Amino acid sequence: MGQEELYANCTLCPNNCRVDRLSGRRGVCGETSEIRIAWAGLHRGEEPPLVGDRGSGMVFFCGCPLHCAYCQNYQISTAGGAGITVDEEELACIFTGLQEMGARTLNLVTGTHYVPSVINALEIGRKKGLTLPVVWNSSGYESVDTLRLIDPYIDLYLLDAKTLCRDTASRFCGREGYADAIIPVLSFLKRRHPATDMDRLKGVLVRHLVFPGTERQTEDFLKYFAENFRENFLLSLMVQFVPPLENPGFEPLSKEAYSRLLDAVDVLGLDGFVQEQGENEILWIPDFNRDNPFPEGFAEPLPYFLDLK
Ligand code: SF4
Repeated sequence: MGQEELYANCTLCPNNCRVDRLSGRRGVCGETSEIRIAWAGLHRGEEPPLVGDRGSGMVFFCGCPLHCAYCQNYQISTAGGAGITVDEEELACIFTGLQEMGARTLNLVTGTHYVPSVINALEIGRKKGLTLPVVWNSSGYESVDTLRLIDPYIDLYLLDAKTLCRDTASRFCGREGYADAIIPVLSFLKRRHPATDMDRLKGVLVRHLVFPGTERQTEDFLKYFAENFRENFLLSLMVQFVPPLENPGFEPLSKEAYSRLLDAVDVLGLDGFVQEQGENEILWIPDFNRDNPFPEGFAEPLPYFLDLK
């Protein structure tokens, strides 16, 4: 089967919509087979090994197979959100343009529903001299069959593991099946990437965001992670939940609960990163209506991307 045919009866993610995206139909992700990009440029807010001297070369894709209630990228993740249409040749030129701009890594954000096109663009990019390490920056809501296709092209995964609890997944991610889908994804990545080395940009960094009122579920997740992946992956524990605009009334994580989670990370011997309470806050919510959606000094748009707008 050609890569494009995967769009014809789309099962690229666990939603298994089986719509014909080639004919312009849209599934839960809200996108046809036309590639839509919300932003491309250098970004200095990622983990230091990804950033180097100039920044991580980020490409934000429009649409998303998940509908998280708290999504900070809601301007581009919902159907019809801001973005431009590009073909595979232009996408490859975006990749090489980021390399020429001095990017340390090529950082593909929420590309799950575009895997066939991303593979073709990476192939074209390689013929044009693309050598950057490739980072797959994803929600973790992946089909293992689709991951198997993209995996040979990926050096480092920045993968969310949001929850193992179906109720929590339903409440915060809009898909209770997330809790079931994430387990085979982590198992697959462990088989393919049994060791992680951030300095060499190899392996898997799992990001877990603590949702309000679900500290018990986070403790369960930390135990599960320690039992199954402690020797293989790094963990990034994130605590800066930003409430959705239409429902700002979530209680913030208390100092006591935060402290208990830090103790759990310590006792379980987990290696990685822990976000400090109060770090960053609202500053990190991007505004994709601007040429630079991020705080001044943290990001720089790719000129070729601006030319395509
Ligand atoms: S990629 Fe989009 S259309 Fe395809 S299964 Fe997932 S949500 Fe549905």
